[in-house]
Amino acid sequence: MPLPSLKHYNYDDLDGSCGCALCNHYRHAVKAYEAYIQGKSSHVWSCTCAECKTRMKIYEEVLLSSLKRETYSELSFLCENHPDKGPFLAWVWRATQYPDGHRRTFSRAWWLDRGAKVPLGWWLRKWKMLSGVDIINDLMKKGP
Ligand SMILES: [Zn+2]
Ligand SMILES: [Zn+2]
Repeated sequence: MPLPSLKHYNYDDLDGSCGCALCNHYRHAVKAYEAYIQGKSSHVWSCTCAECKTRMKIYEEVLLSSLKRETYSELSFLCENHPDKGPFLAWVWRATQYPDGHRRTFSRAWWLDRGAKVPLGWWLRKWKMLSGVDIINDLMKKGP
């Protein structure tokens, strides 16, 4: 799978024409969810019948794919003008692509639980620990 564009943050373009794996995953998940709920009786959100359990499973895929896509997109926006963004974004991209069960960090469960809560700065700090490149400091020096 090729790396998505390093300028991956114009959502009009992304929704319309981006063919990267993050956008494809998201588009597929939304379509599958829309197809599933089509014509279904409307149970309350907290309902736990078998049909609603299936619905939640399918909805989880929308959440998961949207989280991954937004994380990558927002970080690509934040680092747009940083000279070392390439290796950083490649690492973030890999973090979205680990098969479940491969690693505890960046697994499906990780994304749905922690991934939904960590701020963008967390990714930059983690990258500094891994690579020594302090993107967050460079961004702050430049100011807004
Ligand atoms: Zn994309
Ligand atoms: Zn139900």
